[in-house]
Amino acid sequence: MPEDEFRRYARETADWMSDYLATVGDLPVFSSPSPGFLTSALPREAPDHGESMDEVLRDFRELVVPGLTHWNHPSFFGYFSITASGPGILGEMLAAALNVNAMVWRSSPAATELEDVTTNWLRQLVGLPEVFEGVINDTASSSSLYALAAAREVAYPEAHSAGMFGMPRGRIYASEEAHSSIEKAVLTLGFGREGFRTIPTDEAFSMDVEALRAAIAEDVVAGIQPVGIVATLGTTSAAAVDPVDQIADLAEEYGVWLHVDAAYGGSAAVVPEVRALFQGWDRADSVVINPHKWLFTPIDCSVLYCQRPEMLVRAFSIVPEYLTSAEQAETRSLMDYGISLGRRFRALKLWFVLRAFGRDGIRARIRYHVEIARHFAELVEAEEEWEVTAPVHLSLVTIRHVAGDKVTKRAMDRVNGSGEAFLTHTDLRGQTVIRLAIGNLKTTRDDVLHVWDLLREAAALEISED
Ligand SMILES: *Cc1c(COP(=O)(O)O)cnc(C)c1O
Repeated sequence: MPEDEFRRYARETADWMSDYLATVGDLPVFSSPSPGFLTSALPREAPDHGESMDEVLRDFRELVVPGLTHWNHPSFFGYFSITASGPGILGEMLAAALNVNAMVWRSSPAATELEDVTTNWLRQLVGLPEVFEGVINDTASSSSLYALAAAREVAYPEAHSAGMFGMPRGRIYASEEAHSSIEKAVLTLGFGREGFRTIPTDEAFSMDVEALRAAIAEDVVAGIQPVGIVATLGTTSAAAVDPVDQIADLAEEYGVWLHVDAAYGGSAAVVPEVRALFQGWDRADSVVINPHKWLFTPIDCSVLYCQRPEMLVRAFSIVPEYLTSAEQAETRSLMDYGISLGRRFRALKLWFVLRAFGRDGIRARIRYHVEIARHFAELVEAEEEWEVTAPVHLSLVTIRHVAGDKVTKRAMDRVNGSGEAFLTHTDLRGQTVIRLAIGNLKTTRDDVLHVWDLLREAAALEISED
């Protein structure tokens, strides 16, 4: 692409992005396409000859964009709502242009050092002590896998050379509300399904610590080795908060690795009154926080903090000759902290976000999200036909219609079908509930009031049509 052409299309693309971000609220959040809609609209084979950017961009605008679910829409309340903020997008664009690969310090010195700086800044913002060393991964799924790989190194020092075959069985414990990525990590690390023991939760969906104690004691008697405990601060279904301080006591007592999954909730620790909920998380061996969840950073960006980074390095460091360099003893080689050799320059967008918002800016926005979530929960509580199904600590509210699963689910489907707002559902103790997740910077109290109107109307229609 000749320089003048690149400049022209870069400007055109920047204009398109600005317009998109300014008007995304006017688009349907979810456009209800039928599966296969795009595949059938595009050629089955790549073009033989290069096409013009005008054609490519036209198809992007006319075919691709209408088939997206718009996560940047202010009425996107599904999954965990997120934001690609302006500063984050700029950092991401520049990272794409630079295209550096921070495998080792030498392969991109500033990218390696900026990762140290930003993870250190974020660590201070959320109030974790200096012993935690941070590294950026793509997702929390990877971060948790790496943390548990380090836990396996600690529990089975001989397995590093001998492998897991012939080793005593091991177990990793997490609440029944833990994220599926934890079980995936357990399977990937070779412990099998039986290597994962789920612990019941109390009425607030928080891990029952006495049940955890009993499970570990029972396993130890049976000759099963406790390998790791995963506590969640902000579970996926209900944003429940496990009592991490008490869990840390148990982890210490048994000498077991404690990993804290704060992928969504962790960013909220920037707000002092929220951080109080996380009492004891500084005692964990490892903690994962996703800035791409609730810290306005475009996906992907997951920070893994580890008090014992040398165990991560022990689990993953293999240095082929072509990657050795004179300064490797005094610098970090980020390739040593996980599976990926090549790594995108993710620190850049996080650095842009932390600088552009500042601690006060981040605090104010997260506080607002928590406040409007609580306000929504109060409105639902006040309505006889609806109920809030879990305590609201963060920015996620789970609700259901008293008429039951069918009306609840259908009311949600009806709202999603309207394109005006987007919600997702889950199952709590066998009941269908709607999740309203707030995390987008453009979401206001009015957007929340509007989706509440839509939900009530939809439920009333379902009941009258039944
Ligand atoms: C979102 C989430 C995950 C998974 O995060 P990815 O980055 O998509 O892998 C894991 N745990 C919790 C608690 C989450 O909220």
